[in-house]
Amino acid sequence: MFYDDDADLTQLDGKTVAIIGYGSQGHAHALNLKDSGVQVVVGLRPSSDSVAKAKEHGLEVLEPVEAASRGDVIMVLVPDELHHDVYEQIRDGVAPGNMLLFGHGFSIHYGEIEPPADVDVALVAPKGPGHLVRRQYLEGSGVPGLIAVQQDATGHARDLALAYAKGIGNTRGGVIETTFRDETETDLFGEQAVLCGGTTELVRAGYDTLVGAGYDPRLAYFEVLHELKLIVDLMYEKGIAGMRYSISNTAEYGDLTRGRRVIGAETRQAMSDILGEIQSGAFAREWIAENRAGQESFQRMREEQAGHQVEVVGKELRSQMDWIDTAFHE
Ligand code: NAD
Ligand code: MG
Ligand code: MG
Repeated sequence: MFYDDDADLTQLDGKTVAIIGYGSQGHAHALNLKDSGVQVVVGLRPSSDSVAKAKEHGLEVLEPVEAASRGDVIMVLVPDELHHDVYEQIRDGVAPGNMLLFGHGFSIHYGEIEPPADVDVALVAPKGPGHLVRRQYLEGSGVPGLIAVQQDATGHARDLALAYAKGIGNTRGGVIETTFRDETETDLFGEQAVLCGGTTELVRAGYDTLVGAGYDPRLAYFEVLHELKLIVDLMYEKGIAGMRYSISNTAEYGDLTRGRRVIGAETRQAMSDILGEIQSGAFAREWIAENRAGQESFQRMREEQAGHQVEVVGKELRSQMDWIDTAFHE
């Protein structure tokens, strides 16, 4: 693991970092680097809604290709499905000896971008959403992160990537060195099987089971969605055994005897199949094709699920819980 003392911010002295995109990760990286004393410019299309926001935050905003020209380090923080097109827009600004940097390895690992041999190619991937990357930096803590070097043209790629990770606060939480392949495949697996796909279906299935059996939807919401955070917070702080120490013996006995009936052999097999599709590139091909087709089924599925009753009930209940800080999640 690399911590603050292992990284040297002066690697970025005299260099400019160009952040392309100002969304979830982009705003957090740009602001954290600026607060760490690094020269930052932001690359956005003039029509982008984010231009005004970045300027309000005191950042210089340029067209993407101009930002890339200005940058010695060019961090691409637009959605993965746009990397191919955005790289075409900025490639003339990427000079020999520059570093092309990513927040996730998808586009390099699956060949959506093929950078020239005379630039460094690396990734700095915070293991958390952008808004937490910003919030924890401000609080003096930091989201852990991964770094990887795909191409080391200058011989300094690793030191520079580590300096960047320090500038956004990752070395406070700890940084692991990995490869583009491992970062990409584990990240996709995590979000599909556990963090996003697995968890949302678990919640929806639990909610549907209770409401389908005639229980009050509000009770179901509190039970399977609201309380999930409280349990996950305990796991985050103390591990699974530590969480089990805090819950009642009744809850713990139910956990130990019932959990494996919910996540059984069928689910483990599905996880293994999902990992296989990620490793073979089948998932990447599917997602790239979905984008070429205009994201039609993606948008339809998004809308369908946003209409689920758990969303309507949850919105109403959350509106009464004014301590829930939504500002960071908008
Ligand atoms: P996002 O959707 O939040 O932000 C996208 C930004 O890109 C917006 O500011 C948008 O205006 C801008 N943009 C769109 N098209 C553009 C163009 N043609 N030129 C310039 N800018 C353009 O994206 P995100 O979720 O922050 O993801 C960015 C990268 O970070 C991805 O590679 C993603 O995998 C990675 N990542 C994201 C998270 C996360 O928490 N969201 C976590 C780890 C890694
Ligand atoms: Mg991830
Ligand atoms: Mg991801």
